[in-house]
Amino acid sequence: MEAEILLTNCLYSSDRKKFQSVERMAKQFCTTYVGGFRQVKDHIFEVIRNYARINMLELDVIRFPSEDTHLWGCFFSASDHDFLFINTNNSLEKQNFAAAHELYHVLMNEKRYAKKVFSDVIRENGEIIDEDVEASAFASLLLVPTKALEDCLDILLGEEIITSNTIQSLNKFFMVPEKCLTMRLYEIGRIDRVALLSLLSTLPKRQATSPAEVTVDTGSLLKNMQYAKDLDLLNDEDFAADEAFLQSLKS
Ligand SMILES: [Zn+2]
Repeated sequence: MEAEILLTNCLYSSDRKKFQSVERMAKQFCTTYVGGFRQVKDHIFEVIRNYARINMLELDVIRFPSEDTHLWGCFFSASDHDFLFINTNNSLEKQNFAAAHELYHVLMNEKRYAKKVFSDVIRENGEIIDEDVEASAFASLLLVPTKALEDCLDILLGEEIITSNTIQSLNKFFMVPEKCLTMRLYEIGRIDRVALLSLLSTLPKRQATSPAEVTVDTGSLLKNMQYAKDLDLLNDEDFAADEAFLQSLKS
């Protein structure tokens, strides 16, 4: 049932034209800002920083653990300054997806020039606005581009029949939630509707990377960052960037 709803609500099913235009946008963004990374994965944070720098945007990416793991991330904009928050208490796969999803709102916000009014929260089972459906399609297409997915299937895995094991193997290359990867396989025509629904219902209810058991105590941001890093929920580059940001706040 949940799988049916997911399928009905995704942009690929609800508005194919819009899906294609979001795919073109993701490709264009990739060419301009992704640079040499083979797969975006958790480089997404660096990609967002590059985007902000090149466009001289005031944008802070805040990674912080929140106990509310249904909250993946949010974006808000005030007085010409954008803030993108990612909950590091979720798996790295969810963090990557949330960051790419919020990035779409940043891009749309730039287009709107209505910077003072927009805020967004990405929540599981939350209220869905149209732009959210597009943002999730954008995130999937940026993190799992069609060509890269096809290459992975044909060259690296060489598997014809797609099972939940295939999805787990693929995920090492893309680092996104398994639902997202399964949907992409359907969108590129590698699995049909029946296989999609069956795969979605059999996906293990687990997080590929365990979340950190973090108690948030205000004033120890660095400790929580270190904790997330120790659990591989934060990579070295991002840790260094966050640390530098914290230092700049202190001084
Ligand atoms: Zn959103």
